[in-house]
Amino acid sequence: MPGVEGTHVHEVAIVGAGFGGLGMAIRLKQHGVDDYVVIERGEDVGGTWWSNSYPGCQCDIPSNLYSFSFAPNPDWDRAYPMRDQILAYLRDCADRFGVRPHVRTSSELLDARWIADEQRWELETSTGPVAARVLVASPGLLSEPFTPALPGLDRFEGRAFHTAEWDHSDDLTGKRVALLGSGASGVQVVPEIQPIVERLHLFQRTPPWVIPHPDHAVATGMREVYRRVPGMQKLSRAGIYALREPMALGMTRDRRWTKLQELNARLHLRRQVPDPELRARLTPDYEIFCKRIILSNKWYPALQEPNVDLISSGVRELREHSIVDGDGVEREIDTLVFATGFKPAELPIAERIHGREGRSLADVWAGSPEAYLGTTVTGFPNFLFIYGPNVNLAHSSIVYMLESQIAYALDALDTMRRTGAGEFDVRPAVQDAYNEELQGRLAQTVWNTGGCASWYFDRNGRNSIQWPGFTFEYRRLTKRFDAADYRLSRSS
Ligand code: NAP
Repeated sequence: MPGVEGTHVHEVAIVGAGFGGLGMAIRLKQHGVDDYVVIERGEDVGGTWWSNSYPGCQCDIPSNLYSFSFAPNPDWDRAYPMRDQILAYLRDCADRFGVRPHVRTSSELLDARWIADEQRWELETSTGPVAARVLVASPGLLSEPFTPALPGLDRFEGRAFHTAEWDHSDDLTGKRVALLGSGASGVQVVPEIQPIVERLHLFQRTPPWVIPHPDHAVATGMREVYRRVPGMQKLSRAGIYALREPMALGMTRDRRWTKLQELNARLHLRRQVPDPELRARLTPDYEIFCKRIILSNKWYPALQEPNVDLISSGVRELREHSIVDGDGVEREIDTLVFATGFKPAELPIAERIHGREGRSLADVWAGSPEAYLGTTVTGFPNFLFIYGPNVNLAHSSIVYMLESQIAYALDALDTMRRTGAGEFDVRPAVQDAYNEELQGRLAQTVWNTGGCASWYFDRNGRNSIQWPGFTFEYRRLTKRFDAADYRLSRSS
């Protein structure tokens, strides 16, 4: 079908080639839809696992669960996968399932507009125009690095970079490094760079809850078993899934379930940090699971190495070659590393997607992202968001949630085909009722009431990130694209 200025109108355009976008592309192909294009701003597929290449980068969900259900990987060599292996897995999936030819890498979405008369999306990308009947956005939740505007940063003459944009040309050997942040990224980087740097000044604003890391190598024999008897790996996956699912209860309903983990974390701290004064500085003053918990056996030992100092007074300013802490102490540094996380509720892509009446997602959301089932947004016809608002988990694999959304998106396409609809748009009342109930459930969770500040909250103070329940509940809700929830319009 020709579009404006002769641009071919694809059935589907997908933005992003991480787990969500690639999963969507693979499933489309398996579903018999071949007319689609994937736009990826990175130089390769992989999404967050392509961009995050910092030393020590590892997933905190077990490998056998952190994979596509339709593509088990007997080659995982660790119980918890390292970044390089996840990236290799995603590249392999892109090749193995034949979606590579559909992927345009180094192509950034600049603008997307719903053209009502034509019932299609028109996209402007850094590599040219694209048109499609359906737009699937899978930009990733943790894809936009957040760097605080520290006073004096512009006059700092050393190197400065974010963990998600690691500067591999900066050899940190023998350097004086300041690192800001003690979230999952900071905790993974510090033990890797501590042995090579001359000094490491670690700025910790809020101590994380840290529990022992159960990671271990997967024996070659076990990998052979997985290869020969795939059912064994399925069994392992099912077991991990079943063991993790009850954790959702503790976070969302009954705090008694979290007390055991708190004890685990306190014992871990006591075992690894003998100095009571340091221990006090490393003890969180908020409930466990309020922020994402951290798995590490190396964090506390690294902090106690003689070339590391832990600073809790914050950053007053940067000078040409130094950093000044909140107490006014100045330290000379060569490199500043931001392990300061992301702003998931402020994704720039939201400013670039325009629905009915030309309004952007960012404009409609006004700082608080909201969707129906985390996937469709009223006023944005034929639009599906993979890893959209309130889909994130703290207890299990996000890949499971993404696959639920992908199945829902496929059913939306089937519904269009079956009913002859050219357009679907979620009913405002349906979206409102869904979110009212969701926010009601979130109100009692540890994320909302545990006494911490986290990236789960948007600038209006609303939790627009977390899914407040079991993953199987979400799967049940997204099992079927219910046409009654939508206004379907015939093809024009
Ligand atoms: P994060 O959890 O948001 O941590 C950011 C850190 O930077 C926090 O310690 C924060 O302190 C600090 N910070 C932010 N602004 C600051 C400022 N102006 N001054 C001083 N400190 C500041 O980010 P992240 O570590 O990149 O992790 C984000 C998420 O990515 C994780 O929660 C996880 O979901 C995912 N992740 C997972 C893994 C894994 O699977 N193992 C690894 C990396 C990331 P406050 O706590 O006081 O705000």
